[in-house]
Amino acid sequence: MHGSEDVSSASLLAFTQQQFFLLDSIQAGIIVHGRTSEVLYINRIAAELMGIPRTALLGAEHSDPRWDFIREDGSTLPLDEYPIARVFATGKAMKRLILGYNRGTDGKVIWAMCDAYPMHDRAGEISRVIVSFTDITELKEAERALQKSDERLRLVLQGSQDASWDWDLVTDVLYFSPRWWQMLGYPVDAYPADAVLWDRILHADDRPRVDREFASALAGAGTSYEIEYRLARSDGRYMPVLSRGFITRDASGNPIRVSGTNSDLTERKAAEEQIYLLAFYDALTGLPNRARLVEQLQKALQTSARTGRQGALLFLDLDNFKVLNDTMGHEMGDRLLQAVATRLRDCVRESDSVARLGGDEFLVIIEALPSDPDEAAHEALRIGRAILAALDEPYDIGANEHCTTASIGIALFGDGTQGVDGLMRQADLAMYQAKARGRNMLCTFDASMQRHVDARLALDIELRKALQGCEMRLYYQAQVVDDGTITGAEVLVRWMHPVRGLVYPAAFIPAAESSGLIVPLGTWVLRTACEQLAAWANDPHLARLTLSVNVSVRQFRETHFVDQVLATVAVAGADPHKLKLEITETLFAENMPDISEKMHALKAHGIGFSLDDFGTGYSSLKYLQRLPLDQLKIDRTFVQDLTTNPNDSAITLAIISLGEKLGLRVIAEGVETAEQRAFLFANGCSAYQGFYFSEPVALHEFEQAVGALSRRGTMPPELAHPTIL
Ligand code: C2E
Ligand code: CA
Ligand code: CA
Repeated sequence: MHGSEDVSSASLLAFTQQQFFLLDSIQAGIIVHGRTSEVLYINRIAAELMGIPRTALLGAEHSDPRWDFIREDGSTLPLDEYPIARVFATGKAMKRLILGYNRGTDGKVIWAMCDAYPMHDRAGEISRVIVSFTDITELKEAERALQKSDERLRLVLQGSQDASWDWDLVTDVLYFSPRWWQMLGYPVDAYPADAVLWDRILHADDRPRVDREFASALAGAGTSYEIEYRLARSDGRYMPVLSRGFITRDASGNPIRVSGTNSDLTERKAAEEQIYLLAFYDALTGLPNRARLVEQLQKALQTSARTGRQGALLFLDLDNFKVLNDTMGHEMGDRLLQAVATRLRDCVRESDSVARLGGDEFLVIIEALPSDPDEAAHEALRIGRAILAALDEPYDIGANEHCTTASIGIALFGDGTQGVDGLMRQADLAMYQAKARGRNMLCTFDASMQRHVDARLALDIELRKALQGCEMRLYYQAQVVDDGTITGAEVLVRWMHPVRGLVYPAAFIPAAESSGLIVPLGTWVLRTACEQLAAWANDPHLARLTLSVNVSVRQFRETHFVDQVLATVAVAGADPHKLKLEITETLFAENMPDISEKMHALKAHGIGFSLDDFGTGYSSLKYLQRLPLDQLKIDRTFVQDLTTNPNDSAITLAIISLGEKLGLRVIAEGVETAEQRAFLFANGCSAYQGFYFSEPVALHEFEQAVGALSRRGTMPPELAHPTIL
């Protein structure tokens, strides 16, 4: 590039070497044309920008086809408008002509901004024209993009529901588009667009915030902002609006113009509110739901920790709501819940919270109770009692009046030790305690409840281990007929605790029932009993004995209960006719068709059924007739006072005659005295179980007793009692 031609042209132009060096380092293209527009000199940048070697351009005139320029609008630039042509034509310099051309090296369109100056000789003729140009391609592209997005924005605005506006901060002229007026329900340009209008339509409550946010947007360096506010519509209602503004700033950054759009947020606000309501409120009663309550409780706990004032959480559960709901119908049930919600709200202060947990469970948070725990508890109890009284009033829903009561558990908070979950558990526990004490009760949580829960948990763990570790034993309690013959036994489980010794079922069966451990435990009892029956089968004295096994509702509910029992019997090799399952009337509260089907299936294989604790529960005659029962077992509470309480003796007589009518055998349990036995015998019940004959005993003891009796033949039980076992 820096060939000898440069030097020759340098000499031609009478520039010094230093001047040429300078010209080459300038960041602009420079081309010097001679009298006939021929190129005399071209600097390095110019050749690079043109994409043509310097030497190739030297001597080229302005009509040379390699100069091929376009205007900004893309049209071809005519020859006579070429900068050089214009300078020759006018004799004057021309400035800032923007033209485009294809770069020689890669054909890319380059945009250049050109200046052209004439140089005159002594005669005043133009002897040279100097064209200088800079590459503005990038600028041009940016401008193009800007134009495009501007165009896009305009299109979007035309089609959208957004209302545009413009505010010239210099002249303070405000412009609102027709859509802006329409959005608020005003005729276009109904009022002068000025500060008076703005004052009138902007919601007074929003004003300080809007002023603050707007001022800070202008004061900053940003070019856009968003503010939400409410504007008065023509009908007087306020419309929530999102205003997006674009700030134009002068060279020193001062805002000179703000323009933007307003969007109507009415629907979005309504949707947001709807979502909020759905997420945090119970649809039926309109009360806060569990999620909202947890938030409120968290806040209440913090407040109480800060202020030192106690608070209380009330857990409320309606008594018998399920029965009510089933008999009255769900619609009435719903109305009752709504009425309860209203009464609850009326019972507490505005600052207290009432929530519905679901079903018939409600929670109440009472705040700002006295700081003294005793006084606080006293106050919480007073409010609880007021709630119970309010809920106890008859409800006027539907055609009839209805009545319902509730049970309330109260947990105090204030020492900051319980979290939300712990507190809810405590109130829940106290509520169960209240239910256990009878209906329409309230109960405050105390540490003994927690101890009870903790103990239950520990028991669960221990029981699980006991089952695996073979700590369970079966005891056998003889069942005797009137001539003293032992016909069989009821098996009763015992826990041989490594530390506590012999543990009775009352201490662990309820826990096993609630944890579900009763199922594996029951399976074990059944298997052991079946194995025993099978072991006795070859003994002449023992082979005729039956075994009664207590079966819990939980076991019966198992889908594969029938298969399991049959498999257990089969695997053990026991005679199913020697096995009796003791069920209680609570089973009838279950899915009756399922229960009946299971019982019939087992009965078909010879397994018998005895209805335990009979008389204490609820049995309809219908069930007794339909189910394949063999035996009714008179509950020991009736037997206990048989000879002293006429009521109990009447029931006992009724059971005996019922058994006769239904063709069911009757056995009395809990027979402790000769009088009881005599009474039963005299009235037609000749099968017994009870301490009078034998307590539940370990296997070998029971076997001995059977053997001893058999060897001695039949004898009066009164005689046998002290000696046989
Ligand atoms: P239950 O089925 O009513 O069993 C009879 C209970 O009465 C036994 O108490 C027995 O010891 C007791 N008893 C027997 N004769 C007399 C008497 O003359 N006077 C008095 N006061 N009581 C007498 P136990 O063994 O403590 O069992 C209590 C309960 O535990 C049983 O009541 C039964 O519901 C449950 N249970 C025992 N073993 C099992 C079992 O293997 N499975 C299931 N699911 N429950 C069992
Ligand atoms: Ca029983
Ligand atoms: Ca019983």
